[in-house]
Amino acid sequence: MVGMELTAELFLTLSMVCFCVGSKVSVLSSWHMDLFIGAVQQTEDSNPGLEPLAVVRSLRRTASYEDFFVRHFLGEINSTDEEVLSSVLKKYYHHHLEELGLDAAPRLISVLRRENFRELVNASLLQTQVMASLDVYWRLRGETEVVQEVAVEKMVHEGVQEFIHRYIDCPVIIPRCQWRARPYRGTPTRLALPLSSMFIHHTHHPKPCHTFQQCAAYMRAMQSFHQDVRGWDDIGYSFVAGSDGYLYEGRGWQWRGAHTRGHNSRGYGVAFVGNYTATLPAQRSLEQVRGRLASCGVSGGRLVGNFTMYGHRQLVDTTCPGDALYAEIKGWQHFREIPSKQ
Ligand SMILES: [Zn+2]
Repeated sequence: MVGMELTAELFLTLSMVCFCVGSKVSVLSSWHMDLFIGAVQQTEDSNPGLEPLAVVRSLRRTASYEDFFVRHFLGEINSTDEEVLSSVLKKYYHHHLEELGLDAAPRLISVLRRENFRELVNASLLQTQVMASLDVYWRLRGETEVVQEVAVEKMVHEGVQEFIHRYIDCPVIIPRCQWRARPYRGTPTRLALPLSSMFIHHTHHPKPCHTFQQCAAYMRAMQSFHQDVRGWDDIGYSFVAGSDGYLYEGRGWQWRGAHTRGHNSRGYGVAFVGNYTATLPAQRSLEQVRGRLASCGVSGGRLVGNFTMYGHRQLVDTTCPGDALYAEIKGWQHFREIPSKQ
């Protein structure tokens, strides 16, 4: 399932790249598939044996797609470093995070696709392009007036807002089925949304996980521990942040967790995998929670706009989330001190 989602998102990203680099809508309108296939055929016929990526590079001359992003993504037109497509895909999908983790990773890898996509697109551009695409679609069907209708614009606007929330505001959150969670035991308690707080934790054990396989295995182990040893209904946290670039769904947005004793009904518990007493998670992992998860919660109506962020130790007698991580979150926009009791 992960592979399918990644493939779908790469396709979507590449489609948007094509949208964004085409500076005029008229370019899109004339970019008919038959013409495209004809151009590919012509290039292949005049250069027998050319690798697919080399064909794409060659086509760029005709299309005048030569801005910085395209050069970065597809390489120089005259480059002698001709890679086969499988090699390009492996670099994109199978990049192994080294000891330095996400912060030292190249920008164009699969786990950073949401960040890259966010830089490429915005709501007004998307609205314009969807309307232009509908215009082309209806003209091909001979229905030239439909695109003028206000109701269609309103519908597209709502769809774009939902898309922006899901794919731009929100980070990638690996759902329970993907990390193979056990079912909840008993009857979960629905939260009364929006909530007013987010509580930051670290898991203390084990070491940070740098691959989906490691992080998913740890999620399963943690759920077993919470259910079988602690006797809880489910994994305690609302969300868990790995060092692999992903967030993992625990109890999620709708259900009350078991993470911050006495406060579980009023806030989400978010834990970073690892011990952050002396070191910090990667900056990109921190940003997933500080920026993306928070923004996703607010725009989705799960968190109030002026929500407060606390470290676990402010509310319960514990060292969690570790000295280093606690010092870090004290500088975050939504962090609040709790007035000391007299
Ligand atoms: Zn904690």
